[in-house]
Amino acid sequence: MFTCDVKRMEDKIKTFSKFGDAGHGGITRYSLSPEALMARAEFKKRMEAIGAVIEVDDVANMYATIPGSDPDAKRIVMASHVDSVKNGGNYDGILGVMGAMEVLETVVANNIPHKHPLTAMIWTNEEGSLYPPAMMVSGIVCNDYLPPQIAKNFKYENMMASKSVLDGTKTFGEALEASGYKGDKKYRLNPDQYKAMFELHIEQGPILEDAGNDVGVVDCVLGMFNYRIKFYGQAAHAGTFPMHKRKDALHAAALALCYLHEEIDKLGRPELVYTTGEILCHPCVHTVIPDYVEFSLDVRHEDPKVREQVMEIVKSLETKEWARCKCEIKEAWARDTVYWDKELVGFVEEAAKESGVKYQHINSGAGHDAQFASYMMPTTMIFVVSKDGLSHCEPEYSSPEQCTAGATVMLNAVLKLDAK
Ligand SMILES: [Zn+2]
Repeated sequence: MFTCDVKRMEDKIKTFSKFGDAGHGGITRYSLSPEALMARAEFKKRMEAIGAVIEVDDVANMYATIPGSDPDAKRIVMASHVDSVKNGGNYDGILGVMGAMEVLETVVANNIPHKHPLTAMIWTNEEGSLYPPAMMVSGIVCNDYLPPQIAKNFKYENMMASKSVLDGTKTFGEALEASGYKGDKKYRLNPDQYKAMFELHIEQGPILEDAGNDVGVVDCVLGMFNYRIKFYGQAAHAGTFPMHKRKDALHAAALALCYLHEEIDKLGRPELVYTTGEILCHPCVHTVIPDYVEFSLDVRHEDPKVREQVMEIVKSLETKEWARCKCEIKEAWARDTVYWDKELVGFVEEAAKESGVKYQHINSGAGHDAQFASYMMPTTMIFVVSKDGLSHCEPEYSSPEQCTAGATVMLNAVLKLDAK
């Protein structure tokens, strides 16, 4: 049983929080931005200081590796991302990179014997905040292993052509060329050279905190589906057209959305989550009755049967009339629940138990690079409690002790796999 160092972890948290500091407690650190390049330079500096060898692949993923006693053994990799959303916090993503660095630093400082080389890795552009989509680069690197309906959304050429949401012209490919971090394709994460992947991450929800636990042993990433729900009405003048003759698409959408909430809640599944976060209204003019409205519906649950029940409710929308408007639904995309490697989950649980940390099993509602990596090699995740369940915002917080506890669990889980 080995323990990571709180002081060293705290120093990393303070240092990395400066790169992209927005001045009110959080960061804006888009992938490959000057701020992200500062974080990468700090990673390189600290990893070279402990004798790690740095490699960079053709999509700017960085790998810092220390050797094990067996030069022929596959590497064990610990990976996450250094990019953030706009006005994000100091923990989402970077915790997993700092945790991986902390594991390597602890192994070197304590001369911990290990057979396999150990690698700390930075995934490029996980958030996709500046160059969509999210999980872009793990989608590229793991493309050959992904189910076809997911893989097609991450074609290399299309990703290189992804345009900046800020200026609408600069592409991800251009940013990659300009970054100085376009390395060699031969260094990409691959199952011949790498044995397994771990990702330490903040929970991003309130479950651990509500239960009084500090660490989550993650079992899976929830399956989900996403629909576009569309309403067709008739535009007319807001002042002259009587209410009883209107086909108001926004009124229709509002009624349907309330219906969805009522019917889905009747399923009585407290662990089911669903969200309408996007709405389009045409023509969106205050003197015109809307003739077209479209909203998104994102639904997440582990059990495909439960997702199927929700889908039936969604499909029933089309069979009804909403404020005299026609409704059409269209599936945008869907993915099954991704279960982590059972053996690795077992090692994480043993490590959590032995370290004395308060832990529980938990699922991930959010997507992570680990999820794509899991199609390529055995993979698992470890969660650290998020204060007030907040993430993707500036108040995001986990204490240095909690972050270190998560790194300690990862270290000992890695050593268990190493010794197997
Ligand atoms: Zn993240």
